[in-house]
Amino acid sequence: MFINIHTHSQIFDAHLELVNLFLERNDRVKYYSYGLHPWHIDGNYKDDLEHLREIAHEKGCLAIGECGLDKVSKVDFELQEKVFVEHVKIANRLKKPLIIHCVKAFNELINCLNHNNNQVPVIIHGFNNNDNIARVLNNEGYYFSFGKDLLGYESNAAKAIKTIGRKRFFLETDDKDLSIKYVYLKAGELLGVNDEIVQLQIEENFKSVFNFAPKMANQK
Ligand SMILES: [Zn+2]
Repeated sequence: MFINIHTHSQIFDAHLELVNLFLERNDRVKYYSYGLHPWHIDGNYKDDLEHLREIAHEKGCLAIGECGLDKVSKVDFELQEKVFVEHVKIANRLKKPLIIHCVKAFNELINCLNHNNNQVPVIIHGFNNNDNIARVLNNEGYYFSFGKDLLGYESNAAKAIKTIGRKRFFLETDDKDLSIKYVYLKAGELLGVNDEIVQLQIEENFKSVFNFAPKMANQK
């Protein structure tokens, strides 16, 4: 079974798609994550966080995010941290995983999570950073989600998927026009296994992070 852990719109080519929603509701979406992306924090952030607190309770809201820290974003970094900490608190209160967007701020990210005594699983989405960063995040026990960068020849993502260990990764399409099946194929190729093995592994990883079996989800 194909699981797409992070997509911005339904593509309907996976058995389970976790659709990233932001400030809009889409009742046709079965499973979603919800959060304030560090690019989209503005003067309304207090209202937006209120909105998040409501939506986060919903059964279909499986994860909090994408949220995180981005040094390239024009949004004031201190404000980003403040908003991110609220996400961490909400996720921990509800025991839902965090889906993280992080650009050039991994130290700050780890500090924020540790200072707030984070206990929920952390998924770094769209990972395409160097080995060193992969190792540090791996030591923290975080999960990685890989997308289009896996397709790049000798990309950081393609290296990282081989080093982080099979229990720690997911696959995604993000906002790209791409079939998740193709990403699975590529992951299998890099790991030297066929893509059915990748599917089984990600089902296992999904179960341990989200506490339910994706097959059951499908039958509901
Ligand atoms: Zn995204």
